[in-house]
Amino acid sequence: MKDAEFLPYMYVIVESSKAIENIKNLKVGMKHAEKIEVVKKLNLNKEVDAVKISLRHPKEVNEWRSAVKPFGERREYDIPFVRRYMIDHDLAPMVEVKEDFTRGKKEIEKMKVLAFDIETLSKSPTDIGGDPITMISVWGEGVKKVITWADTGGAGNIPEWLQTEKNEASMIKAFIRLVNEYKPEVIVGYNSDMFDWPFIAKRAEKLGITPMFNGRALGFVRRGRGTAPYLPGMNPTDLYIFVRNILSPYLQAETLDLGTVADELIGETKTDIGGSDGIQEAWNDPEKRRRLFEYSLQDAKVTYNLAEKIMPMIYELSKIVGQTIFDTSRLPSGQMVEWLLMRAAFKRNMLIPNKPKSEIFSERYAQRYVGAFVKEPIKGLHHRIAVCDFRSLYPTIIMAHNISPDAVGCDHKECKKNSPENGVHFCTKKKGFMPELMESIFNTRMEVKASLKKLKKGSKEWVLAKAKSNALKLILNSFYGYLGFAGSRWYTLESAQAITAWGRKYIKEIMKVAESEGFTVIYGDTDSVMLNYPESHSDADFEDRVGDFMKRVNDSLPKPIQLDLEGIFKTGLFVTKKRYALMGKDGSLIVKGLERVRRDWSPLARKVQDRVLRLILSDRVEDAKTFVKEKVKELRAGKIPIEDLIITTQLTKMPEDYATIAPHVKVARDMRKAGEPVLPGMLIKYVVAPGSGTISSRAVWAKEAKEYDVEYYINNQLIPPILRLMEVFGESERSLKAKQAGLDGFFK
Ligand SMILES: [Zn+2]
Repeated sequence: MKDAEFLPYMYVIVESSKAIENIKNLKVGMKHAEKIEVVKKLNLNKEVDAVKISLRHPKEVNEWRSAVKPFGERREYDIPFVRRYMIDHDLAPMVEVKEDFTRGKKEIEKMKVLAFDIETLSKSPTDIGGDPITMISVWGEGVKKVITWADTGGAGNIPEWLQTEKNEASMIKAFIRLVNEYKPEVIVGYNSDMFDWPFIAKRAEKLGITPMFNGRALGFVRRGRGTAPYLPGMNPTDLYIFVRNILSPYLQAETLDLGTVADELIGETKTDIGGSDGIQEAWNDPEKRRRLFEYSLQDAKVTYNLAEKIMPMIYELSKIVGQTIFDTSRLPSGQMVEWLLMRAAFKRNMLIPNKPKSEIFSERYAQRYVGAFVKEPIKGLHHRIAVCDFRSLYPTIIMAHNISPDAVGCDHKECKKNSPENGVHFCTKKKGFMPELMESIFNTRMEVKASLKKLKKGSKEWVLAKAKSNALKLILNSFYGYLGFAGSRWYTLESAQAITAWGRKYIKEIMKVAESEGFTVIYGDTDSVMLNYPESHSDADFEDRVGDFMKRVNDSLPKPIQLDLEGIFKTGLFVTKKRYALMGKDGSLIVKGLERVRRDWSPLARKVQDRVLRLILSDRVEDAKTFVKEKVKELRAGKIPIEDLIITTQLTKMPEDYATIAPHVKVARDMRKAGEPVLPGMLIKYVVAPGSGTISSRAVWAKEAKEYDVEYYINNQLIPPILRLMEVFGESERSLKAKQAGLDGFFK
């Protein structure tokens, strides 16, 4: 398919007919432009004369861009030709293209996916290709396989999914053959851009193999902060990058490794084999090797199942944004928004602003503005709490107030009152191109959500609709950040400022209304308020009052801004801003900002805090104290198993590059002395042993730890996270003021 008529072009905004003549007479490389037209375009909200310069070849755009500099402001020279073509013809990948190059109706819904994963003898995620690949596992429809060159003699019965090759080179060749025969439309890995693909490429090079996929040698192209593998027709996708760029703000997980993410998203997890130590051990021991094969196969399976969950959303985003799956899966959400805006601008005959140069970027980057309003919580334990949330607050503010780069500061007098506290105003007479685009996305999402209710949960149609709804929501939520991001073409500080200003105004207004109706505002943050009603003595009465309040508030809000009831909770413990826990009527917990889920604390710290939190939220504060006292006793009696006291810290650079010796750095140095390879990225596990000297000097590699320092664990691991919870009950204030011995004393 080739459309020879379509030419690359750029614009120059001209102020005089002289400039037009100059451009017409201009020759670059001894040639005039293919076509010169003077067209009316919108520059934000102002109509301007622009010279459209059409050229024969995309590479000429760059030469012309320099040549026309004296004649006016240049535009749209920095849009790659293929994308230009897609914008101008309203094309999108995965959507049928008709003979006349316009967009058809048929949409592709599912693609043939193959997941893969490699195991290596490398000790660090940053060491690529230094050590051999031991096995490559793949999982797809009708294919599950572990290809290895291990001696399987001692592995017992050889499972049918295990394919043994004579050496690493033949294993890599077998993998390449399998992929080419299977012909995936999408090949997925987890962290495969940074690890698996470059690892395969490096090993192949060392072994003298050229990996060919679909007739092309495996290559790499720059994408975002790194590189991505190039496999024509196979859309190599790295789920980790999509999780990191797009999904992580919506996840509870604080680490984004495959196991944690899969556990949260699909309730499935990796087999634990004990990190790179465990892999090494299993590889060297024929008896244990079988477990390693199973572990590797499980990784490919989990990756495949995660892809089943995530890919539909990437397909939908790809259709909405109009970029390939390969690109969409690696785009930050701001760039997705930008592509949509470029299409919307084209349809409105608007000129697209240029990408900011580095000076402008830095200037913008230095600008700061006031963010969201967060109310200091009323500390302590509260009962019967209603959590009310604005549904998509920032997107709905943008739509309700017509916040848009082309609607800022119009000349109409009547529009002046459409302004938050900071003085800037937005036009109320002509809809901006951004809110217009958002409304169409918003309305589509409402339709999809309505259709979801009619579909059977879990059915093929439901999964598709759900993915679409999530994709649309994600895009809607990304406009605000886009306006305030220094690298955006349509960056407008006034718009970003106005959004947060209106956000603060609405949340404060809601709080005022709630208080005037007798509610107590326990806490509020950005777009949510948490209320209780001290006079209420029954759940039914409370729910009625909340219902009335919601209705009154929603009647007064401009559309589509809406307050939703997120839920009514039995109890809530509030510690400080951003740190609280809520317990539902069914005993379910929502915990925000407390140490519970952080991996750098010892399992003991996390387990004890979890139990204490549950006891407090169940109105059993005294039992919580007793429980802590018990644990202190157990610690003193040496009854806590050493595994519960292991502290894990990631090494971020080489141990010799640290100026101060933190405990994990000391341990990393010990490990190296013991002949253990130590590299940045490794998780260092240690226990603090008894004795004299600094904590660092007493940190012992977990593998070799036999004893622990009782006082250290009481004062640094057990008490601090508990105190944070207990502090709110007044009693602990005394102990807070006291010295460390006092802290301990409180729990004796
Ligand atoms: Zn106006």
